Order: sequence, then structure tokens, then C-alpha cells
Amino acid sequence: MNIKDHIRSIPDFPKPGILFYDISTLLAHADAWQETVRQLSDAVRPHKPDLLVGIESRGFLVAAPLALSLGLGFVMIRKRGKLPGDIITHSYDLEYGTDTIEIQADAIKPGARVVVLDDLLATGGTMAAAISLLRRMGAEVAAAQFIIELGFLNGAAKLDVPAQALVTYE
Ligand code: IMP
Repeated sequence: MNIKDHIRSIPDFPKPGILFYDISTLLAHADAWQETVRQLSDAVRPHKPDLLVGIESRGFLVAAPLALSLGLGFVMIRKRGKLPGDIITHSYDLEYGTDTIEIQADAIKPGARVVVLDDLLATGGTMAAAISLLRRMGAEVAAAQFIIELGFLNGAAKLDVPAQALVTYE
């Protein structure tokens, strides 16, 4: 079972000139998705996390089944304005402008060891922001785990934790 065979690439999305890697076809294929979760479990387990964190929105699709598979809880990092109650907000720079992510203030206890999940590592800006936010809360970030890495963008260099992906495109 080769996971890569089930990932589709779509040209000119969301903008002309961008090749978008689409995991919809991977999610829709029962055996390929089970194999993906199995491989993610094997990659994440050695880091011995107390908790998993997923980044909205496709990171949730990765983190939720993995949390079940590893017997761990799962915490959401969301875009601005989506989470109720006391929240901690973190803004970060994009190529043009800024973006904001949020987490519930009581979601992570200081000292908790976490692994952060997203579907894809591109420039690394999203994951770097998530790691900064988690550290502000006192979390110990053990690793960042992805299904896909766009190696030519060198996003892993922006992350000061081990960054792992199941599939790399060069
Ligand atoms: P980065 O911040 O540049 O690393 O971009 C990663 C974020 O953008 C992740 O949350 C991804 O879900 C999303 N993303 C960027 N490019 C793609 C793509 O080709 N397919 C799916 N998601 C992408």
C-alpha cells in the first residue's frame, strides 16, 4: 500500500501557478487511510506525547484518528474567533499580511509533552506559529508530524523540533 498513490495534485489551486496536494482521495479510500493512520501512529508513538494537537482544519482530520489509535487526548488550534471561553491568541506574519491562531487557555497544562499534527508542511509558517503558541502555554513540543512535506520549500528548517512526514515531494 503506497500512500502517495492516493494523494491527488490539482494545478492552479487556490491560485494560478500553485500545485495543490489534495488528501480527499486518501481520506476516501478506507485501506489507504487506515495505512496512513498506522504509519502516523508508528512515527508519533516514540515521542511519547501526553497529548496531540491538531491545526485547523485538515490537521484535525489527522490528529483525531491518531489520538484514538494512540489512546491520547486531542486539542484544537483554530483560526480566529472559532473557540469559546478563555482563549490565547497568537498572530504571525504571512508573505502578505498576518494571520491569527487560537487555543483555549485551559487546554494544555504547563509541562505537557505534545506532538503537533497537520496534513502538509509547506513554508513552515503555520507550524512555527503553532509551536510558539504552545510554548507560550508552557507545553513541551516533542515533534511536528505531517502526512506530506513539500521538501523544496524547506519548511522543516523553520522548525526547531523534529519534523516528520510520511510522503515528500521534491
Ligand atoms: P505553510 O504554513 O506554508 O507550511 O503551509 C501549510 C498550511 O497550508 C497547512 O495548514 C496546509 O494545510 C496548507 N497547505 C499549503 N499548501 C497545501 C497543499 O498543497 N495542500 C493542502 N494543504 C496545503
